[in-house]
Amino acid sequence: MPTKTSERWIADGENMEKQFQLLGYRTDMQYADDDIQRQVDQIDAMVDAKVSALVIGAIDGTALKSVLAKAARADIPVIAYDRLIRDSGDIAYYATFDNFKVGVQQGNTIVEALKLRTAKGPFNIELFAGSPDDNNATFFFNGAMSVLKPYISAGKLVVRSGETKFERVGTLRWENAVAQKRMAALLKSDYGNARVDAVLAPNDGIARGILASLEEAGYGTKARPLPVLTGQDAELDSVKLIAEGRQTETVYKDTRELAKVAVQMTDAVLSDEKPMVNDTKQYHNGVEIVPTFLLQPVNVDKSNYERVLIEGGYYTAEQIAA
Ligand code: BGC
Repeated sequence: MPTKTSERWIADGENMEKQFQLLGYRTDMQYADDDIQRQVDQIDAMVDAKVSALVIGAIDGTALKSVLAKAARADIPVIAYDRLIRDSGDIAYYATFDNFKVGVQQGNTIVEALKLRTAKGPFNIELFAGSPDDNNATFFFNGAMSVLKPYISAGKLVVRSGETKFERVGTLRWENAVAQKRMAALLKSDYGNARVDAVLAPNDGIARGILASLEEAGYGTKARPLPVLTGQDAELDSVKLIAEGRQTETVYKDTRELAKVAVQMTDAVLSDEKPMVNDTKQYHNGVEIVPTFLLQPVNVDKSNYERVLIEGGYYTAEQIAA
C-alpha cells in the first residue's frame, strides 16, 4: 500500500489481509510512506522472498517497471490495486472503482447544489486535482470536467484564478497541506471582496485542507457562506463535516468490496482460473490494456449518509457523532 496518510489505505490493507487469510493465504502487508524508492525496495525484497503474488497500490504509477520485470522473470503475477501501474507489460489485472464516474459525481454535486441548470449565475469556482503521478487523478479530473466544462465555457462558472488545466491544479502526493496553501493563496490573490461559490476537491483529505483555509479567511458565516465542496473516500472526519454541513459531499468507495475483488482476482490467477473482469477498454497503461474490474462509487451527502454509511455498516452512528 502506498501510504497511511489517507485513512482508506489502512482499511484497504486490513480488509485484504483478513480476506486473504480466510482463504488460507499468508500475507505480508507493507506501507511505503509515499516514498517511491521505499516501495520499489519493498517489492524487490518480496520478489527475492519468492512470494506467490503481488497486489500493489502504487505511489508513482510509472516507477515500478524494472522491479516488475524482475517479478515477471520469477513468474510472480501482479495485480494493480486501485491505481493503475503504468508503462509495464507485466500487470495481470487491475481492480478499482469507476474513477471517471467518481469525477462525474463530484461535478454533478456542484451542478445540483448551485442549481446551475436553471440559476442565472455566474458563480465562482476553483479547481483542485490529485497527484499527477497517480493515474486515477486524471480520471477523476476529466470526469468532473466533463460535467463542469460546458458551464465554464458558457460563463456560468467562473474560475477567477484562471487555473483550469490539470497540470496547474494538481496536488503532488495528494498532500492536504499543499492544497490548503494553494486555497489560501487563491483567496488572497483572486478574491478580495468576491466570494468563491464552489470548490472541486478530489478527495476528503484535500477538501479538509481547503476547508481550513476557507474558514480561516472568514467563510462559514451568514454573510459569507461556505462554498459547495466535494470530496472522496467517505473518511470519518469528512462524514462528520458533511453531517455538520461544512462539506457538501463525498464519493463513497467501499474498500471492503475492493479488497474482496482483488483477493478473488489473485486467488483465481493462482488457481489457473480467469478472474472476472468488466472493463477491457478504458485502462491502457502505456504498454497495453489491463483487464479491469470496476466497482461502482456512490455519491454521499447530508441527505443519504445515514442510510448508505450507517445502515450499510461502514460506520456506526456513534462514530459519526463522536
Ligand atoms: C484513490 C483515492 C485516494 C487518493 C489519495 C487515489 O488513488 O483512488 O481514493 O483518496 O488516491 O490517497
